[in-house]
Amino acid sequence: MSVKVRFAPSPTGKLHVGNVRTALVNWLFAKGQGGSFVLRIDDTDLARSTQEFEDGIETDLTWLGLVWDERYNQSKRFDRYEEAAARLKASGRLYPCYETSDELDRRRKVQLSRGLPPIYDRAALELTEAEKAAYEAEGRRPHWRFKLDGKRVAWEDLARGHAEVDTASMSDPVLIREDGLFLYTLPSVVDDIDMDITHIIRGEDHVTNTGAQIEIFEALGAKVPGFAHMPLLVGADGAALSKRLGSLSISDMRDQGYEPIAITSHLGKIGTSDNLEIAASVEALGAAFAFSKMGRSPARYDTADLDRLNAQALHGMTYAEAQPRLAALGVDLGEVFWDTVRGNLNKFADVADLARIVTGPVTPVIEDPAFAAAALEVLPEVIDAGAWSAWTTAVKEKTGAKGKGLFMPLRLILTGQAHGPDMAAMAPLIGREAIVRRLKGEAA
Ligand code: GLU
Repeated sequence: MSVKVRFAPSPTGKLHVGNVRTALVNWLFAKGQGGSFVLRIDDTDLARSTQEFEDGIETDLTWLGLVWDERYNQSKRFDRYEEAAARLKASGRLYPCYETSDELDRRRKVQLSRGLPPIYDRAALELTEAEKAAYEAEGRRPHWRFKLDGKRVAWEDLARGHAEVDTASMSDPVLIREDGLFLYTLPSVVDDIDMDITHIIRGEDHVTNTGAQIEIFEALGAKVPGFAHMPLLVGADGAALSKRLGSLSISDMRDQGYEPIAITSHLGKIGTSDNLEIAASVEALGAAFAFSKMGRSPARYDTADLDRLNAQALHGMTYAEAQPRLAALGVDLGEVFWDTVRGNLNKFADVADLARIVTGPVTPVIEDPAFAAAALEVLPEVIDAGAWSAWTTAVKEKTGAKGKGLFMPLRLILTGQAHGPDMAAMAPLIGREAIVRRLKGEAA
C-alpha cells in the first residue's frame, strides 16, 4: 500500500513554524516515497474556526510548495462521526456522563488530597437508567467518554522507536461535549480510517492522544496506522518555542522577505543529522528525507540559521528565476547586474538599493577632493569590463594611493556606501557619464 499522510490544522489561527514543520515533514516523507499528502481542515469547532484562517493555511502551504493531493473539511463530515459514535455507543465503549465541570473539579481535588492520580473515576458507568432519566429531566445533557481498555498501548514510532502509553493512567477521554460538539479525538480517527491514512506524523505533544486513539482505531475495527512523533522545536536559547510560536507566523515571514525554500530547508533539516544547507527544491528535500536522520533531541530553531539559508538561496538564484521578481520591483537591470549583486543580498528586496547604485541618484561621499579630481583625469574613455583594472592602476600611479586607501575612496565616491558588490562589474553598469558626475561631487 502506498504511503498516505495528512496535515490536519485547525483554522483557528495562522500557520507558524511549528505547525508548518509538521506539514513539511509529512509532505517530505510522503513525496520521498511517491506517496500522497492530504490537507484536512480540522474545523469541528465551528465557533473558533474562520474562513480567513482556512484561506491563510492554503495560501501559506501553496507558497511553500507543499501542494496537497486531496483536501477535506471535518465540518462536512459530521454524519460520519455520528455513525462512528453510534457504533461505539452500541458496543459500550462510548458512555454518557452527567457531571458538571464543577463536580469534576471537586472530585479531582479530593483525589489529589488523598494522594491519588486525578483521573476520572468512571462513576457514570454505574448510573441506572432511572438516574440518567432524572438528570435529563433536570435539563442536564450528557457528555460522552470513551472507555479506555486500561492497558499498555505500544507502537513502533518512526521517530522515537519503541513507544508505550499506559492508558490505565489516563482519564477516559471526552469525545463529544454536552453541547454535541465532537472534540478532535474521534473525528481524527474516523477520517484517518476513511481516508486510508497510512502514517500519522505529528509533534510529540500528541503521544498521549496516540494511546487513546490507537484504542479507538481498534474499537472501530480498523487497522492502526504507523506513527511518528517529532521532537518539538526549541529556540536558539534551548527553551521551548511553544509560547513564542504565535509570533513566528508564515505570513509574517513572507512579509519579512524570507524565501520559501529557505524556510523549508531550515524546518526540514533542523533536528536531523543533515547539514543546514539550502536545498535545490522542496522535492530534493523530500528525496533526502528520512526519519532515521531525526534525533530524539529537540530541533533548534535559530533565526540566524534561517537568515544564512535565505542569503544562500539568493546567492544561488539564477537570473531566469529572479527576472520576474526584478521586473515586478521595477529593477530588472539585466543578467550582468543580477549576477553582480546577488552575492550581496540577504533579502530579495535589498536588490532595490543596489539597483540605485546603477540608476542613481547616488550622493557621492568625497573625503579628499584632490583625489577625486586626480581619478577623474585618468578615467578611461570607455568603461568596459577591463576598465576598472586599468583605471585603478592609473589612479594608483597618479596619487600614490594603494590597497584600501585606493579602493575605498573610489567605492565611496561611486556608490555613496562603504560596502557593496564588485566594483569592476558595477562600473560599466553605472556608466561613464554618472561616474564623471559622481567624481565631480554631483548627486547622479
Ligand atoms: N488538529 C490537530 C492539531 O492541530 C491535528 C493533530 C493531528 O495531527 O492528529 O493538533
